Amino acid sequence: MALLTKAPRGTQDVLPQDSYSLRKLEDILCDTASHFGFREIRTPVFEHTELFMRGVGDTTDVVQKEMYTFNDNGNRSISLRPEGTAGTVRAFLEHGLFNEPLPQKMFYLTSCYRYEKPQAGRLREFHQFGVENLGAASPQADAEIIALGRQIFDFFELSDISLEINSIGCPKCRKNYHAALLSYFKEKSGELCETCLSRLERNPMRILDCKSPVCSAIAKDAPVVLDFLCEECDTHFKSVQKCLDTMDIPYTVNPRIVRGLDYYTKTVFEFVSNSIGAQGTVCGGGRYDGLVEQLGGNALPACGFGMGIERLLMLLASQGKELPKEERPLIYIAPMSEECSFAAMKIVNDLRYDGITALTDLSSRSLKAQMKYANKLGVLYTAVLGEDEITGGKVNVKNMDSGTVTVLSVENFTEEFSQLSLHDSFSGLSFDSFDGKLSF
Ligand code: ATP
Ligand code: MG
Repeated sequence: MALLTKAPRGTQDVLPQDSYSLRKLEDILCDTASHFGFREIRTPVFEHTELFMRGVGDTTDVVQKEMYTFNDNGNRSISLRPEGTAGTVRAFLEHGLFNEPLPQKMFYLTSCYRYEKPQAGRLREFHQFGVENLGAASPQADAEIIALGRQIFDFFELSDISLEINSIGCPKCRKNYHAALLSYFKEKSGELCETCLSRLERNPMRILDCKSPVCSAIAKDAPVVLDFLCEECDTHFKSVQKCLDTMDIPYTVNPRIVRGLDYYTKTVFEFVSNSIGAQGTVCGGGRYDGLVEQLGGNALPACGFGMGIERLLMLLASQGKELPKEERPLIYIAPMSEECSFAAMKIVNDLRYDGITALTDLSSRSLKAQMKYANKLGVLYTAVLGEDEITGGKVNVKNMDSGTVTVLSVENFTEEFSQLSLHDSFSGLSFDSFDGKLSF
């Protein structure tokens, strides 16, 4: 029975007391992306497994160990998306978006699924805000998405989130680099973990990203890719840096960043924080000039990033940053009897047409119990509606913060109440948010 009341490991619910703040955060992300000219794309939660094998790369941890893959009833191999880029590129190709003006700049806010060991900042269902620029080859495009990431962190005035960049070159320069890595790691092959041993011939760069302490210690002294860049990749990387310098975006070059997915070329980058424990990468991305072709399209340069929403929330919490909180319900109309509840329903219904958050009794509670309930909800105004009020056409409205009582007409309630609440808000009477706490 416990299974019925316990969500699967590595998943999280967003409860009503937190969802408003989360939505506000998402609005900020989407608005920032819009200001940069990115438009939203939504793709399915599941895709053909083949898409991720090709798109993410079948030598990656994500595909080899972390994917949720199953056969559907039609015996197709289906996988839940482990990231957002492959689906976006698939949709771009399927719907011929390459015929639209290029670059196509898209963003998404999406759930992702990876079978990983759940821990702080590492979930099995997590959420990513991602951007993709399809069709721009210039270093300015790389710098633009980095600037977008930076602007999000700056919006929240977050400190301790630093940008690290690197270039992992193109297939041309990587050939020499792979050879150098291979000969370096071959000498130490006795010490490498089993997964890295299997990667040695196929994709030695993956070893640099291995999280096992032994492998990462060995990787520390491995040759660095920056020493192997061809002239084009070197110039591109320098121009990215020039763009960042010009926009006053601070960064450090970290030749150890290779990123976990196979599709990256040239620029790779991460926004990293020390404030949120071992899973410090809040945002990772780069250029992936080979991906569109890899997925069956004509060669097209592209770049993008993925930002982990849960890690962003951890970062905000670690620095005591508060998101906007839900506003208090404005008014509770308490009917004194069942007979009065019909008139109460009518009043709250009218108020809601005016965009006012208005509540009334739905549980046939006593007046005392209703007031207790309204109080718990943090309602700013209450009004008690009895037979006398209905026949007399006048009702007392009480501001629960100031204690002030105002008499309003039942017939023109919506209009008079709107004026009253407006007046109160201008006179500085408490319209603070109800004190909900963010508990992610
Ligand atoms: P890590 O090295 O932490 O495993 P990654 O290289 O696998 O990250 P990406 O595939 O680049 O991560 O995903 C982009 C972002 O999504 C990460 O920087 C992180 O913020 C977030 N992310 C990735 N995996 C998880 C997860 N299992 N749980 C929560 N967030 C995640
Ligand atoms: Mg990972």
